[in-house]
Amino acid sequence: MIAKQLIPNLNLFPAALVVTDQERKICYANQDMATLCHCELGHLIDSRLHDWLTAASKIVQESYIIPMLLHEQRCEEVQLNLRLPDGKKLAVLASAQRQESYLYWTFIKSERRDQLYQELVEARRLLEIRASELHLQSITDELTGLANRRELVKAAEQLLKQQQGSEQALSMLILDVDYFKAINDQYGHDIGDQVLRKLGTILQKQARRSDVVARFGGEEFTLLLPNTNLDAALQVANRLHKLVNEIQTKDQTLTVSIGIAVALPEHKLSFEQLFKLADQALYQAKKQGRNCTRVAEI
Ligand code: GH3
Ligand code: MG
Ligand code: MG
Repeated sequence: MIAKQLIPNLNLFPAALVVTDQERKICYANQDMATLCHCELGHLIDSRLHDWLTAASKIVQESYIIPMLLHEQRCEEVQLNLRLPDGKKLAVLASAQRQESYLYWTFIKSERRDQLYQELVEARRLLEIRASELHLQSITDELTGLANRRELVKAAEQLLKQQQGSEQALSMLILDVDYFKAINDQYGHDIGDQVLRKLGTILQKQARRSDVVARFGGEEFTLLLPNTNLDAALQVANRLHKLVNEIQTKDQTLTVSIGIAVALPEHKLSFEQLFKLADQALYQAKKQGRNCTRVAEI
């Protein structure tokens, strides 16, 4: 019974209601729309809806909403920005329906939704940054900033795979500081760390872009040199012996022993095999007096 008697007051709906005519002029607006637009109801009537939108929203209206209404009669939940009389903009969610040449619009304030969306975008951006930081941490040696063992193994496996089908040599150098324990014992662990950092910098500086320089652990470093034959690898090793000599701890000169193994495609070596060969060569260098380079026979 009550429903039959009810004549709805459109001002009581908790949404801004607008009707535009064939010229897209506002021929009806409720009080909520006037409140949304920060103006008197009288200012809205006979104005063009277009004039209450920001430039970007005008484009959305013309290129998306109107064609959609002409085609589908209805268009829902489009994010628009109203341009208020004081120049500020207000995010709203617009839906519209076409009835003959009239368009029936509802606008709902969506500032909160807009803000939540922006917060979500920002949270995702921060998460992506954090994820890439964590990834970098997971492949980096903390002390020297070089690649760590995990990254070396991954890079080596990739390079050995790429090498198949080419004719290029891939050289691995393992470099171990001579009598490093004595440096720690004599000058302390901090000075020892400093020496390792300096060594890391020297190794990285002389490397080509395609080389992989890693701290394998302790005072042991590994260089992977793609497209490098034995002659070139020996030249690198000789250069390194000289550069390492420039690191002085008080009156002591640093020296390293180096083991080299050169993988050719036909050897079809795994990382473990290549590493073992270079390590055996390093062992020979240690055995034969240190501060020298030895090459693995394959
Ligand atoms: P060799 O010439 O035979 O290689 O002798 P070495 O003294 O260099 O080798 P050894 O394996 O006996 O000792 C390596 C030392 O490296 C022992 C260990 O305390 C030290 N060490 C390992 N990691 C670190 C580190 O991160 N910082 C410092 N300061 N020392 C480290
Ligand atoms: Mg050592
Ligand atoms: Mg060692």
